[in-house]
Amino acid sequence: MCGIVGYVGDKQSAPLLIEGLEKLAYRGYDSAGVAVIENGKLRIDKAKGHLEVLSERIDGGAAIQSNVGIGHTRWATHGRPSDENSHPHRSGSGRFAVVHNGIIENYVQLKAELIDKGVEFCSETDTEVIAHLLEELYDGELLSTVAKVIGRLQGSYALGILCEEHPDEIVAIRSSSPLIVGLSDAGNFIASDIPAILSHTRKIYHLENDELVLLKGDGVSIYTLELEPVLKKVEEVTWDVAAAEKGGYAHFMIKEIIEQPRALQDTISPRVDDNGEIVLDGITLTAQQLKNIKKIYIVACGSAYHVGVVGKYVLEKLTRIPTEADLASEFRYRSPLVDESTLCIIISQSGETADTLAALREAKERGARVLSIVNVVGSSIANESDDVLYTWAGPEIAVATTKAYSTQLVMLDLIALYIAKRLGRITKEEMRGLLSSIIKLPGRVEAIIESYDDRLRELAEKFKDYEHAYFLGRNVDYAVALEASLKLKEISYIHSEAYAAGELKHGTISLIEENTLVVALAGCHRLFAKTLSNIKEVKARGAYVLAVTTEDNTAIEQEADDVLYIPCTKELLMPSLEVVPMQLLGYYIALARGCDIDKPRNLAKSVTVE
Ligand code: GLU
Repeated sequence: MCGIVGYVGDKQSAPLLIEGLEKLAYRGYDSAGVAVIENGKLRIDKAKGHLEVLSERIDGGAAIQSNVGIGHTRWATHGRPSDENSHPHRSGSGRFAVVHNGIIENYVQLKAELIDKGVEFCSETDTEVIAHLLEELYDGELLSTVAKVIGRLQGSYALGILCEEHPDEIVAIRSSSPLIVGLSDAGNFIASDIPAILSHTRKIYHLENDELVLLKGDGVSIYTLELEPVLKKVEEVTWDVAAAEKGGYAHFMIKEIIEQPRALQDTISPRVDDNGEIVLDGITLTAQQLKNIKKIYIVACGSAYHVGVVGKYVLEKLTRIPTEADLASEFRYRSPLVDESTLCIIISQSGETADTLAALREAKERGARVLSIVNVVGSSIANESDDVLYTWAGPEIAVATTKAYSTQLVMLDLIALYIAKRLGRITKEEMRGLLSSIIKLPGRVEAIIESYDDRLRELAEKFKDYEHAYFLGRNVDYAVALEASLKLKEISYIHSEAYAAGELKHGTISLIEENTLVVALAGCHRLFAKTLSNIKEVKARGAYVLAVTTEDNTAIEQEADDVLYIPCTKELLMPSLEVVPMQLLGYYIALARGCDIDKPRNLAKSVTVE
């Protein structure tokens, strides 16, 4: 995820690019760059760091004389933040410049092919292959060249392309990454998102996947990949800048909940190849090292720890290696029994969580092998780990995590399958079954969001004045209960606790009375009857029960007061689906209570202190 902006017209382009990038800083901010045609020559200025670094270098754009340009703020996915990895990327001859948002899934093959032909690469990015392919396939026409390049790419992309030989044009295209066109009398724009252009125009085109855009100062033409013209309707934007930043939603949290199918897709699809094999390039463990692992620790804080609790069930079941989920703040101070035969899986969205980083160092010092799951490329945890697997969720702004949690979860599922396969502990059928269910997760999450949005608004109205809530579940349902409970309490300030359902009668049941909300997570078919008994126990003491279960478990309606059904999937993957209505429940209850959802009191997004 990143910000792209482009302009061609009567005005000076560079200041407009900088202004647009400032408005897109919420989409990514580890480096920035612009490419323009100045006096007939392609000029690129780019720098690691916040946009100010670049902006100062080119005097806010005033140092550049040009009427056409493209700009980018980066959220690194391939290659750490650095000057070389910043966009725009240039082709070998220097003729083309490209900015890219997304992930090119087949870049490894394309890069090898280009290197064989003698092409030299100057960055670690996936994007650079696009610049070189443009050069390779250039036929003198910009549009047809771009169409040919698109035919070689797999993955997600929004692209802005500039060519020295076509100094009055920008070509742009998108597939699965956002890009819009802005139209004005003084020139035309492309942008990843509306805020970048809102102070110049409210007239836009929304682009469908693989529509080719030819942007000139005096007009915009849109074509299919076969170069057939496409007629588009101009749309008028009615949002203000603040609403536009959130895609028209009231909060980043709900925007990020809705972005989950995309984030999951971006995290899963580059890791599953065309033959249905898992590809985890980030793991460099040799067969011998893997065989020597006697114990796995998953170490993290907050929601990432809850991912670890799910991971304990999944890893133990699939790999048969004893696995513990541990809180980083506890792990670091208790002389953990960790040595060369331990694999330590470290999870952190920001990659900067202080306790988690300290736990990583502790584990390394004791000889453990460290594999981390992080969302921020080049972060401290990524840098200090032996191996890193990135969740490609894009920047997460709301303090309460949603899409980072979901992508971490699926990453752990993939790691478990990968280890099980390499150790020969999973049958081909089991592997195929789980993998095909993982591939279906993004679509199923999307269906849940679509079908439950209104229902959860209604339920939130019903529950908004409750003072206490308890979340119950068994096995992986218990792990989801931990996250569901945290989600509710951190943003709505309702007191809430999670319990392993069988544990309730060992004390906590004494707190259940009239007007206590109990959310029973009952996705685990094997243990359904047991959880049903727990529902009866709390009902008998006056609790109001909301149950979450799979579509085939309608028997639950006789016991629970309200039921949310989710699609059936493999038991181990249930958390990925169950958590979604729980995020929406927390969100809508907090909304109904008038809470500051994106910035709950006393909380910070990334906890970089102890
Ligand atoms: N995959 C590209 C990179 O890592 C683009 C990332 C982005 O969308 O900012 O450079």
